[in-house]
Amino acid sequence: MKKTVLITGASAGIGKATAIYLAQNGYNVYGAARRIEKMQDLKGYGIKPISLDVTSEESLVACIEQIVMEAGSVDILINNAGSGYYGALEDMSISDAKYQMEVNLFGVARLIQLVLPSMRKNKFGKIVNISSVGGKITLPMGGWYHASKFAIEGLSDALRKEVKSFGIDVIVVEPGGTKSEMVGLGTDYMMKVSGKTAYGQLAKGVGKMYAKIEKDAAEPIVIAKLIKEGIETNNPKTRYVGAS
Ligand code: NDP
Repeated sequence: MKKTVLITGASAGIGKATAIYLAQNGYNVYGAARRIEKMQDLKGYGIKPISLDVTSEESLVACIEQIVMEAGSVDILINNAGSGYYGALEDMSISDAKYQMEVNLFGVARLIQLVLPSMRKNKFGKIVNISSVGGKITLPMGGWYHASKFAIEGLSDALRKEVKSFGIDVIVVEPGGTKSEMVGLGTDYMMKVSGKTAYGQLAKGVGKMYAKIEKDAAEPIVIAKLIKEGIETNNPKTRYVGAS
């Protein structure tokens, strides 16, 4: 029987490419994101789009309830939705930082809580968390993004030890620069603030690095293949460092 996958952030970039690739390779795929209109084309691949805001408890619960009702359970959860906010720690508002953590960390953790009871019951489950090379190394002006991804690494490593005996695997994928809506945001920000804040000169230098990463960025299908490989080999850490 086909395994049921829920992938968040399926309206763009890595999430969309992965949803399509998994559907083409025999998985029953639900793709979730806020912009439902950006997922209509997924239906042509047999993917079921679900409206989901990972910062909303109501939305998270409704998403899982719908899948459980239709497919029985989520066998494979891919926490891919993410946001990238940039700026010096001194400049970035705490409310923007909190939002970033809501999406990149607490949304991930809450979805995991919601799928674990049925995974434990079925003695089968795979939880794939999309971290980043930025979950291992840091650049200035990206402190909160790095904090969220370092947190995902720690959360995943601890969770792996908690759920192993229930037949559940935890897989972390760490992409490097990949073509997506997000990849240009860092460069845009650095260029916008260079010359404006006390950190302007630094931003300029970081902007140049981001521009290079953007130029060398991988196609999302490269990461989609890594994610499938991670799921099928249970490789706890799968890293793509092509453009970083
Ligand atoms: P995109 O910006 O192209 O896509 C982000 C996805 O996340 C969109 O589908 C967006 O959907 C979704 N999303 C954002 N906020 C929410 C929310 N509140 N609720 C539900 N969905 C949300 O980015 P990428 O494809 O690049 O990013 C995917 C993952 O890969 C992220 O976790 C990112 O950190 C990671 N990554 C990306 C790298 C890169 O270079 N691109 C490098 C390393 C890691 P919508 O707006 O419709 O809700």
